[in-house]
Amino acid sequence: MVQYVYCPRFTYYEIYLSIPQHEEQRYKVLEGRKVHEQREKLGARYLRKRLGCIEKRTHLHLGTDDGLVGIVDEVLFFPDGTAAPLDYKWAQAPKAPHRTHRLQLAFYAKLIRTTKKLPVTRGFLVYVRSGNRLVEIPLGNKDEKLLEKAIRELREIAAGWYPPPTRKKKQCPDCCYLFLCGGA
Ligand code: SF4
Repeated sequence: MVQYVYCPRFTYYEIYLSIPQHEEQRYKVLEGRKVHEQREKLGARYLRKRLGCIEKRTHLHLGTDDGLVGIVDEVLFFPDGTAAPLDYKWAQAPKAPHRTHRLQLAFYAKLIRTTKKLPVTRGFLVYVRSGNRLVEIPLGNKDEKLLEKAIRELREIAAGWYPPPTRKKKQCPDCCYLFLCGGA
């Protein structure tokens, strides 16, 4: 899902053609790994207290019958019977949550709703580079519609549709598939 928002065509090379990324060469991926190291240090104690959740499960592998799969950093369970995904970002907190991050949370919310049969109306992000700032993101109909569109397109890509390139040309020089794609 993250790659799809980065560029739909990127997912074509990765999913349909199964050409592996060279992750070790990708700065952003390496940064992402640092988040997981940080998470261990941050600890559940603080989040559980601050958010009032009654249970927290980490690194959950969730999958639906229609083929959606994902690994959720953390799933929080609340006394009112709801649940929420929480994800750590090795980034500074932006003024408004990035589209990629919203869509990722909406995807996790769908996985939790479907597999755990619990209502999920919000998600949380922790921005590690802003002093572990915790941000609550309400998830509504608009997020669900965007997610459904993304899932539809990802299924089409998996079936062989060659999607248009990203509109954010400046990310192409950094892309590991540039030599195949030619860029936007
Ligand atoms: S080079 Fe640009 S358009 Fe092509 S796959 Fe990479 S990010 Fe997408």
